[in-house]
Amino acid sequence: MQYRKDRSGAALSVLGFGCMRFSRKGGGIDVDKAEREIMAAYEAGVNYYDTAYVYPGSEAALGEILERNQIRDKVRIATKLPQYLIGSRAAIDRYFREELSRLRTDHVDYYLMHHLTDVAMWEKLKKVGILDWIAEKKQSGAIRNVGFSYHGNTENFLTILNDYDWDLCQIQYNYYDEVSQAGVEGLRAAAAKGVPVVIMEPLRGGKLVNLPQGAAQLLRESGRGWSNAEWAFRWLYNQPEVTVVLSGMNSLDMVRENCRVASEAEAGALGEGELQTLAAVSARIREKEKVGCTGCRYCMPCPKGVDIPGAFRCYNEMFIESKRQGRIQYAQTVGLTKEPAFATQCIGCGKCEQHCPQNLPIREKLKEADKALRPLPYKLGIHAARRFMFRKTS
Ligand code: SF4
Ligand code: SF4
Repeated sequence: MQYRKDRSGAALSVLGFGCMRFSRKGGGIDVDKAEREIMAAYEAGVNYYDTAYVYPGSEAALGEILERNQIRDKVRIATKLPQYLIGSRAAIDRYFREELSRLRTDHVDYYLMHHLTDVAMWEKLKKVGILDWIAEKKQSGAIRNVGFSYHGNTENFLTILNDYDWDLCQIQYNYYDEVSQAGVEGLRAAAAKGVPVVIMEPLRGGKLVNLPQGAAQLLRESGRGWSNAEWAFRWLYNQPEVTVVLSGMNSLDMVRENCRVASEAEAGALGEGELQTLAAVSARIREKEKVGCTGCRYCMPCPKGVDIPGAFRCYNEMFIESKRQGRIQYAQTVGLTKEPAFATQCIGCGKCEQHCPQNLPIREKLKEADKALRPLPYKLGIHAARRFMFRKTS
């Protein structure tokens, strides 16, 4: 296993165990099977275990396995505050106590604000006293490091990153999503501040394993003999700004294979040819896209707050992955921000089109995208979710 450093200089395994995808049995987690997988990873040197309050049964299973094997003090636990459920400081305490109890521990090594998509979510937490709360917990040792996991756009990521002295952050990132969400810009900004970055979705939920035929062929023809997953992991480890890559491992074969790659792949090891191969694979996947937007963001900011590249990315996702996936992404990254960024907010001023290097008919394509991305049930769902998320809390 190879290790990279956190802010305090502690060594974190470059491969982290994502505890969201444990196998299930009889309505709950198959704890014995998960134990075999976790112990295989532990013995191969994995010391970073990521869970969250809302992953069903995950914290309790992890706590049980670490206790059974008496390795709690030998590993780092990352878990998350369900910030979207928080309306008061008392609620923060309640959730945290429950998490400690599930995890059978008296401290959390990395405590993340879960699933921020917008600055407003962080501001809401500040209003209910999260900063004092964190300071107290850090002082008492109940929380050792504080971070956030993120799914919004690059601008909001940078604002949140710069608003607090974070110990760590977690972003979705892979060779296909190089410019989506926090993106490479967010990754490098965090690294430049000395904030370690944990990567989630390295295989894009399995999509970079089950590649379209033409794309998979490009990898095969390269002659490296790496599996599709190995290419994706190697691309991440190649970047020194990446600290830990999470993988939701639920088979011993997967654990062994991922540990092997994590012990071999070094930062800066990929050559120009290999990077070009992956760029070609990414382009091949994108051939199915409806709008040839590269995510460069030269069109931004829009005076009416439209997230232009965000809308196009979600629209394309409908054709690359599935309609549902594109619509969920749109709801999450464009619809559930404090100030929504829907394509329908466009007033047709045309400013964006003057800056687009791809010469895209942005105004026309935005209309088309919003229509496809927000059919009536989704409109109603987003409306209800917004009312809940941005309700007044005491
Ligand atoms: S045309 Fe629409 S999307 Fe483009 S800058 Fe103007 S308001 Fe924004
Ligand atoms: S300038 Fe054009 S290609 Fe770049 S993000 Fe905007 S719409 Fe996409």
